[in-house]
Amino acid sequence: MAKSKFRTIYCDNCRAEKKMQILSAVEGAENKVWHKCSRCRHNFLFDTSIFEQKENESKELNRETCVDYNPTKSYKVGSSVYHADWDDMGFITGKEKLSSGLQSIVVDFQKNGSKRLIENLQED
Ligand SMILES: [Zn+2]
Repeated sequence: MAKSKFRTIYCDNCRAEKKMQILSAVEGAENKVWHKCSRCRHNFLFDTSIFEQKENESKELNRETCVDYNPTKSYKVGSSVYHADWDDMGFITGKEKLSSGLQSIVVDFQKNGSKRLIENLQED
């Protein structure tokens, strides 16, 4: 079995960008590929020609364009952050509200993988 491939796509069901497993293409239509959301487990059919364009644009992490991570700041999905303590950078793939009421960003770090970080922290 080949190793599972994933790509981050906006999931209509989760209403956020989620990692989706790339499943099989539709027979006779190679651009139409089934994807399975790793969070809600729903299957979605996407036209992959759109992603190929997007992926070719620039998915390279660059320290110059990374914003330094600071929990009191707020961030945009799709931008990249640098975490000084970990000396690691990654793309923001989504946002989630934590049960504590805090807002968090989901970052796909180069070294540490997917991590949740607090954002928009209000200081007393
Ligand atoms: Zn989902």
